[in-house]
Amino acid sequence: SGAMDITEALLRGMPLPRPDEDGDKDRRGQVMVVAGSVEVPGAALLAGIAALRAGAGKLQMATARSVAVPLGLAVPEALVIGLPETPDGGIAPEAGAELARRARRCGAVLVGPGMTNGAESAALTGVLLDRLDGPALVLDAAALRGLTDSRERLHRHAGRAVITPHAGEMASLLGIEREAVAADPRGTARRAAALLQVVVVMKGPCTEIVTPQGEAWRYSGGTVGLATSGSGDTLAGLVAGLLARGATPLQAAVWAVHLHGEAGNRLTRRHGPLGFLARELLAEVPGIMAALS
Ligand code: AMP
Ligand code: MG
Repeated sequence: SGAMDITEALLRGMPLPRPDEDGDKDRRGQVMVVAGSVEVPGAALLAGIAALRAGAGKLQMATARSVAVPLGLAVPEALVIGLPETPDGGIAPEAGAELARRARRCGAVLVGPGMTNGAESAALTGVLLDRLDGPALVLDAAALRGLTDSRERLHRHAGRAVITPHAGEMASLLGIEREAVAADPRGTARRAAALLQVVVVMKGPCTEIVTPQGEAWRYSGGTVGLATSGSGDTLAGLVAGLLARGATPLQAAVWAVHLHGEAGNRLTRRHGPLGFLARELLAEVPGIMAALS
């Protein structure tokens, strides 16, 4: 069965929670971004700034110890947590318990961008799934590894979790071939959403968004320049920021995908179709969001 197109009219019909004019930054939503590694520290920066651009009030970033201080200087708005490191420069799984404690007051926790792709990241994600209790969750990139095997841990977070795989990550997640994903993207996304009990954002030239109940939305309004290094990290951060502000998982997913795509369109109009940077998407977001609110 079909999917609804994400349009401006649709978004106006599912407005984001309005900020309390008297509220402080704690009340408008705290985000924790667990991301980055020695090789890809900048993914944490992109995701973290995205969360703030989506309007979250406060940002904590947790990353491998040896990149924490430079990350904090690059994102002076954030509180930065340096965690025990694996030999390959990733975050060690034993950091999970402390992280879960420090995320208690967060509205949303994003795990995955720029993390190392090994078993340690899967183990860290597992510890977080076991220990976190309350925050909405966004799992991206390395945090998607092995998720199908540990789906019972994820089911505890049903109703408050979003995953953001591209087609390749979706194929590994379900243990199927990429061709099978390409042959039936929406059906594949539906299968994953039901199996894992999460909202699935399957990214691509057409992005499919599916709930565990099988309702589907689609966005094909973006342009090819969005297919650039770091682009997915910014999308994951936008989802987390909107969740922290109190959006539902579906609402956060639909809005983030639109904001991301439309930011690309604005840059395309200004600079041409290729060569804009993922980080440049982020400053476009507040204006696009305001125009729809
Ligand atoms: P990632 O692969 O994690 O960096 O994410 C890539 C981002 O770019 C996703 O948001 C995709 O939806 C988007 N994207 C990739 N290819 C295209 C394309 N040809 N047209 C529009 N958007 C795209
Ligand atoms: Mg990615």
